[in-house]
Amino acid sequence: MIVAFMMAVLGVVERGVALPTGDLCESCEENELPTYNFPYMSRGEWGARQSAQDVLPLNYTVPYVVIHHSYIPPACYDNEKCVHAMKAMQDMHIDKNKWWDIGYHFAVGSNGVAYEGRGWGKLGAHALHFNSVSVGICLIGDWTQSLPTSKQIKTAKALIHAGIQLGYIKPDYKLVGHRQVRDTQCPGDALYREIQSWPHYAPFPRSHKDLLDVEELSEDVKELIRQSSEKQ
Ligand SMILES: [Zn+2]
Repeated sequence: MIVAFMMAVLGVVERGVALPTGDLCESCEENELPTYNFPYMSRGEWGARQSAQDVLPLNYTVPYVVIHHSYIPPACYDNEKCVHAMKAMQDMHIDKNKWWDIGYHFAVGSNGVAYEGRGWGKLGAHALHFNSVSVGICLIGDWTQSLPTSKQIKTAKALIHAGIQLGYIKPDYKLVGHRQVRDTQCPGDALYREIQSWPHYAPFPRSHKDLLDVEELSEDVKELIRQSSEKQ
């Protein structure tokens, strides 16, 4: 029973159980090769491994953007170190966490380059119980005490803007820090303070204890949350 339960809890990270009944992202397929007005490296360009398993699609215009820091690996200021950080995160997420791929949709280095993680239109594994309604962006580094570079912040914001234009993020999206949907320090105190001044920052949910009251989450996901809190 415990094993089955654990599988169910872990499974929601990858399988997302039930996708929201949002607006279908009809034009997404046609927008597979966007050109960006910020520095960008695709998976092929930074040398990503293949996914351990095919990642499920997330062909919906999602209502949330979740901001993360990596904590480890630390901040990277040149392409070589950022590529190394991407590979380290992908290895950790696949080999240690047993996820299907790097968890984030994108990660941004202090060099201002956005690196493709799972990429648009894929179900992420970055925020337990919240993956089916969000795009996850990681600002590589530990932003507990210091802030990401201005280049890094600018690119993260530009990436969100691109996601709206491509139809993957709702124009009236809500921006939250990971700690608002999960019991974690992520994205670090300094970055968490910073994002509260970004467009679309939403103070609700205040913490993962509010998840049952998030209207965008499906009943299936809420049921899993209820089950997991009963077991703790
Ligand atoms: Zn996080």
